[in-house]
Amino acid sequence: MANLIKTMLEDGAAYGVCIDGTRIVQRAVNLHGLSPVAAAAMGRTLMGALIMASDIKDDRGDVSVTIQGDGPLGRIIAVANPKGEVRGCVDHPEVMLPPRADGKLDVGGAVGKNGRIAVVRDLGFGEPYVGQSPLVSGEIAEDMAYYYATSQQQPCLLYLGVLVNTDGSILSAGGIGIFPLPGCPEETIRKLELGAPLYSDFTNMLKDSSLPDSIAMAFSGLAYRITQRQDCGYVCNCSRERMERALISIGEAELVQMVEEDHGCEITCHFCGTKYCFTEEELLRLLGEASAKSVE
Ligand code: ZN
Repeated sequence: MANLIKTMLEDGAAYGVCIDGTRIVQRAVNLHGLSPVAAAAMGRTLMGALIMASDIKDDRGDVSVTIQGDGPLGRIIAVANPKGEVRGCVDHPEVMLPPRADGKLDVGGAVGKNGRIAVVRDLGFGEPYVGQSPLVSGEIAEDMAYYYATSQQQPCLLYLGVLVNTDGSILSAGGIGIFPLPGCPEETIRKLELGAPLYSDFTNMLKDSSLPDSIAMAFSGLAYRITQRQDCGYVCNCSRERMERALISIGEAELVQMVEEDHGCEITCHFCGTKYCFTEEELLRLLGEASAKSVE
């Protein structure tokens, strides 16, 4: 079932990208052993990255988002592509903080309010576009919206939410991005802004309703049509070949050390936890390729 739906206002003045990220965030929890607050922070980042990647036309493109705040979670990374694949990691998935006074998970406290968001946007051809902006609140959606406004000169309304059950599993996760197009009338922008309380309730709506029904509730009062439906998932693209290339790129000295001291190595993928083992003989072969490369 499609868990990403794009919409367009009937007057063509703005479009929306709406995600039901429940399965994706649950998969991230299973892979990384995320605490509730880490699940909320990483879940929001994963969905935000999918929204950021959704307007790239070329399937070879992708968007990688790094959120580096001064909070205990450390760095959060999410990489998404327009095919609807996303993967991510966080430095300290086990971090737990007491809830805020309003009972909500303290994502801003866990991420930290001081720091930056860096985005590498690869359109699939040419040089990737690299941009960054300071964090606003560490609550992710605000930080990404500020990034859009300052780095891409693209105003948007962005809502990302993750609800976590008491047992740590994901109750629902949802994201809405609304992007006014150039020339969007002031009146339409005001109308869109009036919907803010509904958009921010989107994750709640997804608890009991399908994605199309939740969109209908969130956009009630707006004339819109659905323009695209897509399946998204947590997908890692790691492989033995990629790990070999990574090993070759770390250089001869490190490889020699791995051969002489450890007689092999084991690499764990940060995004999915898959382990790749290399024997001494395999490392020697890679060492040969590394030195051939350095001669070139
Ligand atoms: Zn992987």
